[in-house]
Amino acid sequence: MTTLPILIAGAGIGGLTAAIALARRGIPVILAEKRTRFDEAGAGIQVSPNAGRVLESLDLGLALRRTAIRPEALEIGHWRGGAPLLAMPFAPPVEGATPSRSLRRADLHQLLLDSARTLPNIRWLIGRGLVDAHETEAGIAAVLAGESGQTETVDAMALIGADGLWSRARSLIGDVREPGFTGWEAWRSLIPAEGLPEALRRPVVALHLGRARHAVHYPVASGSEINLVLVRAAAEARPGWSREGDASQLNELAASAGAGLRELIGRAPNWRIWSLYDRPPALMAKGRIALLGDAAHPILPFLAQGAALAIEDAAVLSHELATRLAREGTGAVPAALADYARARGERAMRVQQASRKNGEAYHLGRPWSYARDFAMRRLGPDGMRRRHAWIYDWRAPG
Ligand SMILES: Cc1cc2nc3c(=O)[nH]c(=O)nc-3n(C[C@H](O)[C@H](O)[C@H](O)COP(=O)(O)OP(=O)(O)OC[C@H]3O[C@@H](n4cnc5c(N)ncnc54)[C@H](O)[C@@H]3O)c2cc1C
Repeated sequence: MTTLPILIAGAGIGGLTAAIALARRGIPVILAEKRTRFDEAGAGIQVSPNAGRVLESLDLGLALRRTAIRPEALEIGHWRGGAPLLAMPFAPPVEGATPSRSLRRADLHQLLLDSARTLPNIRWLIGRGLVDAHETEAGIAAVLAGESGQTETVDAMALIGADGLWSRARSLIGDVREPGFTGWEAWRSLIPAEGLPEALRRPVVALHLGRARHAVHYPVASGSEINLVLVRAAAEARPGWSREGDASQLNELAASAGAGLRELIGRAPNWRIWSLYDRPPALMAKGRIALLGDAAHPILPFLAQGAALAIEDAAVLSHELATRLAREGTGAVPAALADYARARGERAMRVQQASRKNGEAYHLGRPWSYARDFAMRRLGPDGMRRRHAWIYDWRAPG
């Protein structure tokens, strides 16, 4: 009898990492992706050590080193400029230790794609979106639809929904609560570093806090570009995922910013806007369907942990599946997925809540911002590091 594959719906960061982790453990995978081409342009991403360790365990350390920057510190200051509130040096480079990294989102996606393409036990179904699934005697039958509406049915031993915020897999396990608009939108741009003053090119993650807005910037692409993200309050979600920025709103943001941030805003080409949505965490597995990444627990970007948790999910899922399959065979798939859900649920919820709380603190106006600033100064770099240790010190099982 041939072993049925695991079907993963969604070839984003989470789905690709899961495919690689499973395939490397000898488990056949079908990777179905709704899009026909990947467009990850116009944004950077921070990969914290909890996620970096997983990627290194998949032999992606070298590829990461080729393009990623190792920021030396996190610097927190005000939107309007002035002295920093806090500067927290990241751990100095130590042989064998995983650093924090920043890189272009497109580069991270590409290195995952490159790795997945070398694995012969991954079958690709590009341009096929998950639309339906039902359990069968042998496993699960999933219906995929192509762009022109033609459908095909794929038999698998399990379905992993890595299909992002608007997950179809999530509704297939009975969770039909829609994501809710948070009242925030993120403006993102990649700025050529050449010609920028040295102070704006330093390898640091710089965070600027203001009333109802904040900005983050850090170098990517081996230092040749600066990723800039502005988050601002917005009255309503604008349809579409990625749109051009609006000049009058941009001028208003720049006018209130300190000199360095204003210079970056002025030089930024090709703005893309993301309306930010939130959604309560889902039940992460039911029967032979499991969810991972944003499909299970979208995380607001105020802690830079959404992709990191998707990568962690992939590591735990592949461990639980490989362990149970080796010990008990394919009948144990639902139990393996339940183990995965138990292992991940609480952490995902905690990170989701911590990120929401960060957002509240970042965007305070006076007088509450005085209390926040006082607390931050008192916390200091060591206190800040200790506060985040539970996130960054996480290690995958096995
Ligand atoms: C402004 C901003 C900054 C961020 N910065 C960071 C950061 O610094 N660090 C960090 O860790 N995270 C960050 N995040 C969060 C991170 O981008 C997401 O959490 C992460 O991309 C989630 O990955 P995913 O694979 O779960 O989902 P996605 O990246 O959304 O991928 C889902 C994939 O599924 C496909 N798909 C959708 N529906 C179907 C279907 N029905 N069938 C098949 N395929 C389907 C999609 O086309 C897509 O390719 C940030 C987010 C924002 C908005």
